[in-house]
Amino acid sequence: MKPLSETDIRSSIVNATRGEIERMPLPGLHEVLWDEREYLGWRDPRAPLRGYLVHWVDDQPVGVMLRASGASMRPGISAMCSLCHTPQPSDQVALFAAAKAGQAGRDGNTVGMYICADLACSLIIRIVPPKMPMQPEPSEIVARRAEGLMGRVQSFTADIMKAV
Ligand SMILES: [Zn+2]
Repeated sequence: MKPLSETDIRSSIVNATRGEIERMPLPGLHEVLWDEREYLGWRDPRAPLRGYLVHWVDDQPVGVMLRASGASMRPGISAMCSLCHTPQPSDQVALFAAAKAGQAGRDGNTVGMYICADLACSLIIRIVPPKMPMQPEPSEIVARRAEGLMGRVQSFTADIMKAV
């Protein structure tokens, strides 16, 4: 993805108040490998249920504030992230709720989604089995997963921005 600046990120959030956006902590942007990201996601170290996800919609940065459900899924079962479609142990996937943008959100409407708890789908989709005969190239597997992930992130944030 195209790199995001601090200004891009702070101006991108569609479903938070000005105060929440001012208090939002940012991850270390100089450490991000932008070429290996479909979206930038991070959890808030001071407010552990809080998370953020920012991506590009055409040339516009669009970001959402998320809140993880405090309840965890039954341990020992496997769960799947709805954005990257990676099956994982249930404690690594969390149910996040995003307030809708605008009046709909102020009225209490949210969009829910099971997402990798660390909001790092881009890292997990790049873990591929070693190259095998008769199997697609690892780079092809990653490209296909990245395309699916980007499409699902776009529809997630589009849902959040859509009026009820
Ligand atoms: Zn994921």
